[in-house]
Amino acid sequence: MSETLEPRLYPWQQAIWQHLLAAHKAERLPHALLFTGAEGLGKSRLATTFAQALLCGALSDTGQPCGACRGCHLFQVGNHPDYRRIEPEEKGKAIKIDTIRAFVDKGALMAQAGGYKVIVIEPADAMNSAAANSLLKTLEEPVPWTIIILVTSRPGRLPATIRSRCQRITCPVPPRKQAIQWLASQVEEGDPALFLAMGSGAPLLAKQLAVPGLLQERAGMVDEFHAALNGREDPVTIAGRWDKLELPRVLNWMSGWLIDMLRLKFGKQPPTLYNPDQLQRLQAMAQVLDFKVLYGMLDRVYEANRTLGSQLNSLMTLESILLAWANSKKITTRA
Ligand SMILES: [Zn+2]
Repeated sequence: MSETLEPRLYPWQQAIWQHLLAAHKAERLPHALLFTGAEGLGKSRLATTFAQALLCGALSDTGQPCGACRGCHLFQVGNHPDYRRIEPEEKGKAIKIDTIRAFVDKGALMAQAGGYKVIVIEPADAMNSAAANSLLKTLEEPVPWTIIILVTSRPGRLPATIRSRCQRITCPVPPRKQAIQWLASQVEEGDPALFLAMGSGAPLLAKQLAVPGLLQERAGMVDEFHAALNGREDPVTIAGRWDKLELPRVLNWMSGWLIDMLRLKFGKQPPTLYNPDQLQRLQAMAQVLDFKVLYGMLDRVYEANRTLGSQLNSLMTLESILLAWANSKKITTRA
């Protein structure tokens, strides 16, 4: 079921919801809001639920959309005349100027049902510069009762001129206890605390990791990573196996292992780790490498992550990272 059809807030969003609601009730809402926060905190759902609340004719006692009025009904079936959702035509592609223009010319911005008109743009950082410029003109000359909501986990990629015209709403990271409690209600097996650590404290990322078999797969990869470092296994062979997995996940895991090794080297006892279940292996690797080498490897992985999608060949990316990794013990020894 899509986010649009199931608007429910997550438990850690109550406080920020009350804040938004108070501004709505007092008619103090700005013309543009920027919903930010790390991946996996549910900012998309927060934005969508808020959009529905603005169009709902009878908010519930808790201030959530009633789900029963005409506005909610039209919203839920994806057919509300005063709600528009702008996203890339294809995942990972840019939002183009024509798409923005179609929604932001003056006529299209006027509400039809006599209330708010709400436009959600997600991910807002997918707008190319022409599209962003077109939006900027609208933000400079706001239309009364029209609210534009930008959603992104990478606000730094938006032009400063756009950011400065939006009120920023940061989706909070839930307290650990609350996140674990929620996760426990969502996952069937495994340790919610471990999943949460692997998901950097973001419950929705953690939930994605709670897939049967995924932990074993990751443990096997840590094994191979260790084997490549010790010269027990050929890095190119390992790259060939990892190339069959999803590259973003492989890169994400590698950066997690490297960060954990750095944390272990800093020696704060006991450090908080992304991979607490792999402590011994990570410690063994951290011991034989120096800081400089680990930072260098982390840079490589970040760089590969930054250019995701533009790489012609994921196998070559993995090979170059793993070859450098297999060589890092020698560099440490030499230094
Ligand atoms: Zn309603």
